Amino acid sequence: MVDILQEIAIAIFCKNSIRKEKPVSNTNSDNPRQEIEEAIAAGDLSKLLSMNRMLHGHFCPFSAMGFKAAVRAVRELGVRSTGMEEVVAIVETNSCFSDGIQFITGCSFGNNALVYRDFGKPAFTLARRSGDGVRISVRADRVSEERSPEATQLFEKVVIERGGSQDDKKHLSELWAKLSFRVLELPEEEVFDIKKVAVDVPAYARIFRSVKCSVCGENIMEPRARIKDGKAICIPCSGQEYYQLAGDGISIKQEEPDEKKSA
Ligand SMILES: [Zn+2]
Ligand SMILES: [Zn+2]
Repeated sequence: MVDILQEIAIAIFCKNSIRKEKPVSNTNSDNPRQEIEEAIAAGDLSKLLSMNRMLHGHFCPFSAMGFKAAVRAVRELGVRSTGMEEVVAIVETNSCFSDGIQFITGCSFGNNALVYRDFGKPAFTLARRSGDGVRISVRADRVSEERSPEATQLFEKVVIERGGSQDDKKHLSELWAKLSFRVLELPEEEVFDIKKVAVDVPAYARIFRSVKCSVCGENIMEPRARIKDGKAICIPCSGQEYYQLAGDGISIKQEEPDEKKSA
């Protein structure tokens, strides 16, 4: 019971008190995303793209495309995010494209402001809670590699076939860096289809209480708990099917309960 109260207290604190928190960084602002917002306002895309790499791990034209689309959408709607679901991003692909969107919009997997639709399309929608939104998709005839057959060849070797030498990998990352910064120069209207849309924004994420699995003893968000012999049990211990989001998109998986028991 104490655990649950503590969790609820922490959840309420997270939902309500972030703006009142003292900054943890050495900036004078209480806005942790100030540097990003200022760079968006100033149009300092090169700085932002370098910062985006901190999240994404590398430069690549696909994340640069998502990044560029996100900058456009944020400017178009004139929104800022504190990660409290006042702005929601709906992404349609789980590729590099979507990391640029998380970074620029501040809508992330963890703060519930990111909605994932498993369409496999390089497109996303940014919406205010009121439902005013903008959807941006990369035009079908615009694949950035078309401008560099060399990068396309290396991409096949290094990424698709998971092969290539260290030199190939280094060369690809240099080409990708170059292409990424070139993406920033492309005229937006030439690369994207941009439409104002009315969005059915999901309700604010609910705060659920936790229950304890009667088999493994771990905490479970209540709606994910299953009941077995009148007791709460987690999905892996129950052996029931569940959804998994991985590189291939969302799929249905199932654990062997015996495997879990011997673990
Ligand atoms: Zn990437
Ligand atoms: Zn369990």
